[in-house]
Formats: sequence, C-alpha cells, structure tokens
Amino acid sequence: MSTKKFLLQEKDIPMAWYNIVPDMVNKPLPPLNPQTHQPMTEEDFYPLFARELAHQEMNQTDRWIEIPEEVRDLYKIWRPTPLVRAYGLEKALDTPAHIYFKNESVSPVGSHKLNSAIAQAYFCKKEGVTNITTETGAGQWGAALSYAAKAFGLELAVYMVKVSYHQKPYRRSIMQTFGAQVVASPSMSTRAGRKILTDHPNYQGSLGTAISEAVELAMQTPNCKYTLGSVLNHVMLHQTVIGLEAEKQMEMAGEYPDVVIGCFGGGSNFSGIAFPFLRHKLTEGKDIRIIAAEPASCPKLTRGAFQYDFGDEAGYTPLLPMFTLGHNFEPSNIHAGGLRYHGAGSIVSQLRKDGLMDAVDIQQLDTFKAATLFAQAEGIIPAPESSHAIAAAIQEAEQAKLEGTPRTILFNLSGHGLIDMASYDRYLSNDLQNYEVTDEDVARNVEQLEKII
Ligand SMILES: *Cc1c(COP(=O)(O)O)cnc(C)c1O
Repeated sequence: MSTKKFLLQEKDIPMAWYNIVPDMVNKPLPPLNPQTHQPMTEEDFYPLFARELAHQEMNQTDRWIEIPEEVRDLYKIWRPTPLVRAYGLEKALDTPAHIYFKNESVSPVGSHKLNSAIAQAYFCKKEGVTNITTETGAGQWGAALSYAAKAFGLELAVYMVKVSYHQKPYRRSIMQTFGAQVVASPSMSTRAGRKILTDHPNYQGSLGTAISEAVELAMQTPNCKYTLGSVLNHVMLHQTVIGLEAEKQMEMAGEYPDVVIGCFGGGSNFSGIAFPFLRHKLTEGKDIRIIAAEPASCPKLTRGAFQYDFGDEAGYTPLLPMFTLGHNFEPSNIHAGGLRYHGAGSIVSQLRKDGLMDAVDIQQLDTFKAATLFAQAEGIIPAPESSHAIAAAIQEAEQAKLEGTPRTILFNLSGHGLIDMASYDRYLSNDLQNYEVTDEDVARNVEQLEKII
C-alpha cells in the first residue's frame, strides 16, 4: 500500500534552527538608523526586542542555533507536522509530477506562525520581560502570539487594525480566549493613536498605525518588548523547523524535490520551507528551484525594486534593504490578508538579487480556483494565503504534464482557511475580482524612496 503521510516522532523535532546567512556569499546589507543612515548594531535593537532575538537578528556566523528545551517541549503540541503526498491532487490534475506538501495548518492556531511566536515569547520570558506587544492585521500572528504569551505567563497587548477587529471577530475571540488584550487600532491608549483619532475620528486603522501604537507602548512600558511575526531575520530562522523536518521526510519518501514553493507575505513560511533545501544548493551545488508565490496585487519580488525602505507604512522603523513596492504602497483589499505587505525580508531580498531563487505572481481568482480544487482533492480547506503556493504548485504540475516529464514538487501549506470562510463565500457567489498592479504604479511609489543603494 502506498504511503500518504510521512510522519516523524517527537524526538525528531529539530534540535537547532538553521541560520542561512553564514552560507551566503553576499550577506544581507545591514539595517540602517532611519535618521542618521548609519548601520545599526545588535545593541541598537535592545530597547525594542529581547537581547537574544536581537543577537539572532544580526548573527552572521553561527550556522546552527540551538532550540531551547522549553521551546521544543511546546512544539510537541503539534510538531513534527506531517509531510503529505497529494495523490488526490495529482490524480485531479492527471500529472506525472509527484506533489508533496508540508502541513503547517495542523498547528492549534491553524498556521505556521506559532513556530516563531513560541520562540519569541520564550526568549522574552527568559530575560525577565513581563509584557509584550504586537500588531496584527488579519489576526493570524496575534492568535499565535496570544497562545505563546499565555504559555510563558506573559501579558500581551495586541493592536488589531480596527477594520479587521470588526470584520474578523473570530480571530479576535481566539486571541481573547488565550487571554490576550486586543485593542482596536487606532486607540486612545497611545499618543500615536490619540493623535490620529483627534484628527480623523472615523479612521479605520492601518498596519502602519498599529505598529506605531505597539512600538510606542513597548518603548514606554518597563519590562515590555515588541514582537514581529515576519520580515525579520530571526523570524525566518525560527521557521526553518518546517524545512528541516521536510528534509528528513522527503528522505523517508525516497525522493528529493526539484522545486520547493512557499507563498510569500514578508517571507517567513517561504524561508522556513526553502532555506534548509537552499542550503544544499549553496553548499553542495544541488540543482533545485526555489519559488516564492506572491499576489499579483502585491508583487514585491516580481515587480518591486531593491532599495532601502521602511518596514512600516508610517516610516518609524529602521531602514531595511528589501525588494519593495514602497512603504506608501496600498495593496488592494485581497482576501489573503497575510500577503498584503509592501516588502520582502532582507535575507530573501539578497537571495533574489543574487538569482538564487525565483518568484511568480498569482491572480486572486486563480488562488481560489486552486484552493477549491485542492480542498476537493485532499480534504483540507487552505488559507487564502497558502492557496498562492498551491496555485504555483499546480502550474508546475501542469508544465510537467505538458512536457511529459516527471517532476517532484514540494510546497508549504502554511495554514487552513476555516476562519476565512467569508472569503470563500465571496468567491462562491462570484463576488471576487482580480487586481493587478501596473509598472507605473510601482515606479511612482518606488521613486519616492531615498536612493541609498
Ligand atoms: C501570515 C501568513 C502568511 C504570510 O506570512 P509569511 O511571513 O510570508 O509567511 C502566509 N500564510 C499564512 C497562513 C499566514 O498566516
């Protein structure tokens, strides 16, 4: 009988995260102080982040970073995650390709984000931090961090973009069930929030404002640190448990992927599945293609410019070297909320610049078509974000069929869509559209950035 799921034991949960930077010939450029444009050091991040996380952020020498026992213990709640052979999807596509997916949707909050949330909460706790803050858009990061904070006895305040606070009530309930305080942003609890609300009383919020509020609270509260769910190097690092497990599981399946695919918001689940395989390419010259799947409405890797840019819309954060659409870019209101970010993390941006990975952009309607096919073939309703990776995997499988050649495809299923059924409703009632960005739009936005590189 053929094997559907390749399962590891709890003892096989990786002992260390993989830091790709030591294996990169061209290291990512440093973050810059937004005022002076001077490169920032590890110490510069101490007021904002736990010291160990600041250290991981800047670590260019240690290839392996030990995963603390307490973190591995909590990973056991849902890790190792299954690697699944998508026989149903292969059959539906009538393709000679072998399709595998790593199922990160089995985490208790339904996405990969818990891999980093638990690590970040642990290092904060260990350094005597009592309170943490963050912002959340669609709510996936907030949900993951809420459980992680509770697990380590930390108080968490989540600034949730006001429009999502009202439109995504169940993600808010998840956070509150885990014991987090969820504040609709803009709020009256910070200076940044009060200022906006005084000028624009009906403002429905943005991720940029929510970041400003969370950062302000962290800077002004003793023993309080700020956390981020994507984009930064230490978040990519924590997510490598995905690919490290998948590496062993592909061995169990007796195959090696020709193509590895992840959907792309700021880069964390993509890096998680891809970096451990990219390591074989960097260190052994292995022939493997790595593909990031991003929305056509927010195409930083396929259409953006490689520039220093702010991490947030408001321009408060350090300047990061990234493929970006410009921090003023306003992505269309697509349902893959987790992919509506203007830039790509520094490590991925350098890899892309050096031609070590590819990117494709996918239209919204194609993602829901792929999601529906996948749901019917495999019995799992994917998150709208993850559906970008599925659509890219389907393109590869169809190409293999066209060429009549076998191909082994591995993609990351970053999350399930059970809290996103409102988006599926819209799709099923033909109430969704495609959005595309013109090159002129991108050029206009990117032109406003200071040319530092
Ligand atoms: C947040 C999220 C993403 C996008 O974030 P990355 O950091 O790019 O991985 C993708 N899929 C799911 C399910 C998410 O929750």
